[in-house]
Amino acid sequence: MTDAAELRRRTAELLAAEPPADTDPADFLKARFDAGLAWVHYPEGLGGLGAPRSLQAVVDAELAAAGAPDNDPRRIGIGLGMAAPTILRYGTEEQKQRFLRPLWVGEEVWCQLFSEPGAGSDLAALGTRAVRQDDGDWVVNGQKVWTSSAHVARWAILIARTDPDVPKHAGITYFLCDMTDPGVEVRPLRQITGEAEFNEVFLTDVRIPDSRRLGDIGDGWRVAQTTLNNERVAIGGMRLPREGGMIGPVSKTWRERPELRTHDLHQRLLKLWVEAEAARLTGERLRQQLAVGQPGYEGSGMKLAFARLNQEISGLEVELLGAEGLLYDDWTMRRPELVDFTGREAGYRYLRSKGNSIEGGTSEVLLNIVAERVLGLPSEPRTDKDVAWKDLAR
Ligand SMILES: Cc1cc2nc3c(=O)[nH]c(=O)nc-3n(C[C@H](O)[C@H](O)[C@H](O)COP(=O)(O)OP(=O)(O)OC[C@H]3O[C@@H](n4cnc5c(N)ncnc54)[C@H](O)[C@@H]3O)c2cc1C
Repeated sequence: MTDAAELRRRTAELLAAEPPADTDPADFLKARFDAGLAWVHYPEGLGGLGAPRSLQAVVDAELAAAGAPDNDPRRIGIGLGMAAPTILRYGTEEQKQRFLRPLWVGEEVWCQLFSEPGAGSDLAALGTRAVRQDDGDWVVNGQKVWTSSAHVARWAILIARTDPDVPKHAGITYFLCDMTDPGVEVRPLRQITGEAEFNEVFLTDVRIPDSRRLGDIGDGWRVAQTTLNNERVAIGGMRLPREGGMIGPVSKTWRERPELRTHDLHQRLLKLWVEAEAARLTGERLRQQLAVGQPGYEGSGMKLAFARLNQEISGLEVELLGAEGLLYDDWTMRRPELVDFTGREAGYRYLRSKGNSIEGGTSEVLLNIVAERVLGLPSEPRTDKDVAWKDLAR
């Protein structure tokens, strides 16, 4: 059993062998992965030690105190939060060995090719086709949309229709797609913030070897649930210090700029402060549950709360700042590598937070999930469950 003391000992060993001050950051991260200190709950040989997930904090604290580099989790969020747990659960040994190390050290960025122009909330209706060839490879044709980070990604998690003759959930298969392959075309989509952090992706005769299929043929919907449940936790369940995250910037402005205060804004700030703290502590509980297994539907509730609060809080901040809140430093189309709220002006955060109730499942759809799967309420009427995908009205 690997306990906290054992992890401290191993961390000290790593720091002695690869002193951060004299080691190239990329080499340090590789050595950390090989020492099993990347994600301690992963199996040995895959960056972990099979230790309880909650003990990761012990390693992180020791490494931060020693000034060790990290893998910039925000830049590789889709890989860490969504691709990796899905590969770990459904991947072959060869896939795990090939993909997890470069993913964790940040050498290979991942994106998610799920949504399509005609399949967002109703993702299972997707129409991108993957057709098996005589040699066993797959040839993929279709269009994906809203693909965050596709412009910097080396790999994608992709779901495609492999059998149009069965009901929509049954005919989907999950693949790992090489974004540098011929036939993959990425075009920017400019957002309300002026930036183009996401893209449309056109797939034309893209050849994917069968060795890059994740899970069984036709089982892609089940595999995708692992990705989606992890996505909601990744969006809604970040670890934050007290008054960190959403409520931090507006609280800081409130303290530093007394001339902006009004009674009404004070009341609203206090209400949102309490709600943000409650959400932060609930996130902490969620992480403790995660320590003993895969996330369930609780992540949907957390993501719902995060989206609403982030929108209300950034709106309050823009109001507090008045005309200043609308200032925007640059309106040229930028192609950021990551979504980073840190240090950005209130106007940017206000506009970007609009997407929070859409990305990773809309708030309306998450309410349905919580109603049906958590509260056990009757499900929405569904008329397409037993109809072959090819016969659905489009
Ligand atoms: C910033 C951002 C980043 C994203 N990144 C990615 C990515 O990297 N990869 C990816 O694959 N996708 C990504 N998405 C896409 C996202 O998952 C979809 O936009 C989302 O699932 C909604 O789908 P849609 O846009 O097709 O809207 P629709 O599904 O058409 O929904 C339109 C409206 O109808 C409502 N609605 C739909 N069905 C129901 C229902 N059953 N009950 C009640 N209301 C309903 C919705 O809540 C919404 O208000 C991203 C989106 C955003 C905003």
